[in-house]
Amino acid sequence: MITIDGSEGEGGGQVLRYACALSLLTGEPFTIENIRGGREKPGLMRQHVTAIEAACVIGNAECSGLAVSSTSISFRPGAVTPGDYHFAVGTAGSTGLVLQTIMVPLMLANAPSHLVIEGGTHALAAPPFDFIERTLLPVINRMGPTITAKLVRYGFFPRGGGRIEIDIEPAPLRAITCVERGAAGPAQVTAIVAGIPFDVADRELKAAQKVLAEWPEEAFVVRQLPADQGPGNALLIEADFEHVTELMSGFGKLGVLAERLATTAAKRMSGYIASGAFAGPYLQDQLLLPMALARGGAFTTVKISEHTRTAASLIERFLGVGFRVTEREEGANLVEVAR
Ligand code: AMP
Repeated sequence: MITIDGSEGEGGGQVLRYACALSLLTGEPFTIENIRGGREKPGLMRQHVTAIEAACVIGNAECSGLAVSSTSISFRPGAVTPGDYHFAVGTAGSTGLVLQTIMVPLMLANAPSHLVIEGGTHALAAPPFDFIERTLLPVINRMGPTITAKLVRYGFFPRGGGRIEIDIEPAPLRAITCVERGAAGPAQVTAIVAGIPFDVADRELKAAQKVLAEWPEEAFVVRQLPADQGPGNALLIEADFEHVTELMSGFGKLGVLAERLATTAAKRMSGYIASGAFAGPYLQDQLLLPMALARGGAFTTVKISEHTRTAASLIERFLGVGFRVTEREEGANLVEVAR
C-alpha cells in the first residue's frame, strides 16, 4: 500500500489521476490524504470523482471515501477490463482529464476499448480536445498503440455538455526519442466563439497577432459555433512541425479580458518556439507515464513544470523508474528515462 500526501509538489488533481492509473497498471493499492491540498478549495471536485469512478469501472477497483469535497481516499485496484464505456462528468469538468486517468491502462490492455466521455472539452486548466487529438495522441501512437479521438460536441465552462469519443487499440509500448521537432510547417490561431459576441474573437486574434507578428495574416481565423453549444470561447494557437504539433490555449471566462488571455497563450507559444524543444509546458508531464512504462525514451522540452516534477516522483514510487533532466541551450531541457 502506497501512501501519498496530496498536498505535496503541485498539490492538484493530477497526482490523483496518475495514482489511479499507476495503481491499475501495477496492482498496487494506495491511500491519498490532503487531496488537492495545494489548491484554493481543497478536496475532490465533481470532475475528480468522475475520473476516479472511471478508473474503478475500467479497473474493477474499490475506492473508499469517494465523494465531492472528500480529502482522502483509499483505492484498491482489480483487473483492467477493456470494452465500451460511457462516462459523464455532469459539469464542465474536463473530459480530457477523465481520459488522462484511464487511457494508459486501457492502451496496455488485451483488447480494444471505445470510450464516450461527456463534460467540458475546452475549459481552464485542462487539455482542450484539440491538444489531445493533435499534440498528445500522435506521440503516443508512435509508441505503438492506435488511439483516435473524435469531438462530437463542444463543452465550455460553465455549462459543459460536450462529448468526445475515443477508440483505443492497445499495443506494447516502445521507447521513442523525441528530441528534434523538425522543420516548421503551417501555424494557425483559431478563436472559437459560441453564443457570445464575435468581437471577443476579433480582439483575441489582434492581441495574439501582436505577439506572433511574423505569422501570416491568413493564419488568424475565427470559428463561430452554433449558439446552442455555448456560451463559450476558446483560443487555440497551433504550430505544426515535422515531428510534433504544439498547441497553446486560452479559455474565455467572465472577468478575464480577451486581450489578456490571448497575450498569455501567444507568449507561451513564442517561448516554446524560441526554445527549439520538442514538447511544450503541458505535453511535458503527459509524456512521462507512457515513457516510463516503455522503460526508455527521451524528449526535449521547455522549463520543467511543477506538474512534471510531481508526476515524476509519483511514477518513481510506483514503478521504480526515474528520469534524468539535463539542461540544454536556449532554456531547453533533455528529459530521459533513467533505467
Ligand atoms: P491539475 O492541475 O493537477 O488538475 O493537472 C492538469 C493537467 O492538465 C496536467 O496534466 C496539465 O499538463 C494539463 N493541462 C492543463 N492546461 C493545459 C493546456 N492548456 N493544454 C494542455 N494540457 C493542459
